[in-house]
Amino acid sequence: MTETVESRPSAELVGAGDQPQLYLGGQWVDPHSTETLEVFSPATGERVGSVPLADDTDVNTAVEIARTVFTSGVWRDRTPADRAAVLNRAADLINERMGDISALVSAEMGATPTDVATLQGLPATGVLQGYAAAATDFPWEELRTGMFGETLVTREAIGVVGAIIAWNVPLFLLANKFGPALAAGCSIVLKPAPETPLNANLLAQIFTEAGVPEGVISVVPGGVTAGQTLVDHPDVDKITFTGSTAAGRAIAARCGDALKRCSLELGGKSAAIVLDDVDLESNIFMLVFSAGLINAGQACVAQTRVLVPRSRHDEIVSAMVETAKTFVPGLPTAEGTMLGPLITAKQRDKVEGYVAKGKEEGATPALEGGRPDGLESGFYVTPTIFTGVTNDMTIAREEIFGPVISVIAYDTVDEAIEIANDSDYGLAGSIWTSDVERGVEIAKQVRTGTLGINWYAIDPASPFGGFKNSGIGRENGREGLESYLEHKSILMPMGYMTPQA
Ligand code: NAD
Repeated sequence: MTETVESRPSAELVGAGDQPQLYLGGQWVDPHSTETLEVFSPATGERVGSVPLADDTDVNTAVEIARTVFTSGVWRDRTPADRAAVLNRAADLINERMGDISALVSAEMGATPTDVATLQGLPATGVLQGYAAAATDFPWEELRTGMFGETLVTREAIGVVGAIIAWNVPLFLLANKFGPALAAGCSIVLKPAPETPLNANLLAQIFTEAGVPEGVISVVPGGVTAGQTLVDHPDVDKITFTGSTAAGRAIAARCGDALKRCSLELGGKSAAIVLDDVDLESNIFMLVFSAGLINAGQACVAQTRVLVPRSRHDEIVSAMVETAKTFVPGLPTAEGTMLGPLITAKQRDKVEGYVAKGKEEGATPALEGGRPDGLESGFYVTPTIFTGVTNDMTIAREEIFGPVISVIAYDTVDEAIEIANDSDYGLAGSIWTSDVERGVEIAKQVRTGTLGINWYAIDPASPFGGFKNSGIGRENGREGLESYLEHKSILMPMGYMTPQA
């Protein structure tokens, strides 16, 4: 029996509590596994709930369901307009229930419900609508006239998709996997991050309610083992992964071995280039926010290397420090909270290790963060802003994934571009200037996937993804949809003319 969100027992936090079953193919089923995955709030340490920890048999069952339904054609043979309508309905339902969804995501990963709604919910519904629009306008079939006459070029669903995601923006990441896979006509097995599995079940039910047929979507909560089983399954045609560069490299190697299609959204160490003509007062909050404090610094697109002209260095650093001090840490449910916890004690230790490393290598903290008083039950660290950073220091080269910003001084714009490009990563970036055209010219010279002028955001209808170690492939809009498709060329007999519609 398929349960809808409304028919589940009402609880204070919808989707929380102990979930004894797995959501496979749009139905609640008993797991084969006898182990559970416990979910705790990173803000308070309180238990939020549990789900079954999917074992190999459970993952295999999910893939079998996905394969059977893909072969049946029940979803892939629907018209693209029908599939688009289901995605738009899912976006509407998510919007209607944003209160419940953001409360659950907040309990699992620690951001305030308002931040979840704006930084994850808005882009999630945006990408669903973007994929719906892309599917509606897409040239699914095209007749080309080539050297032998006519060839019919078709685009077809890639098949069964295995999706593996991180915990930092789980609502947005789920939408960016379900959206393109469903728009293309694929079936999909999602392995959420072990830290945030509850919202994945809640959202999968919403997609079922929006009209995704039985069998098309499954959720297999688990960690690395479940992920590897999914990657290695011969009936999975494509892996789409969002997570760290290290895990992405391991997954890509396994996919390479099996010649499996694979797209990767990985880490970043992006640069914000502040130009000498920046209007500091208007832009300082957004600069500090997108540089390092967004989502407590746990953002792949964080621009944690802030490149500032030496002529305005002190003034910019002092404005950054004053702004960072306004990011008040607190419980996600407390009024006025600007900074949530880090996801785990391990992540907090790692961030503190980078702060120590920065000092050891000669950087100077203009603001030094630490564990705030009164929040000892959570994994909180307040912001650090380093000055005197050179681009060869560890803090300038490695992704920290916490509220730590490195300010690097430059003398010429060419030098700033060189520093921005001197990175193993290339995911995001920004230019801060009063001359937008000048900003665009500089943006064109930075080897990175997305940039903002005087702000940063992800446009749901434009390609998003990384250069270099930040990934392979693009998500969002038409480019995102294309990576879930195979192209086929059907050559017509020589001299044959297809009747015009
Ligand atoms: P992670 O790589 O440790 O884990 C991500 C997911 O992959 C989890 O579900 C995990 O269980 C699974 N996993 C890990 N190793 C695996 C393996 N060998 N085989 C199969 N599955 C495996 O990353 P994380 O710490 O959870 O997330 C933070 C990272 O994600 C950061 O590097 C961040 O930049 C990146 N990220 C990137 C984007 C993007 O769009 N580019 C978005 C969000 C997060």
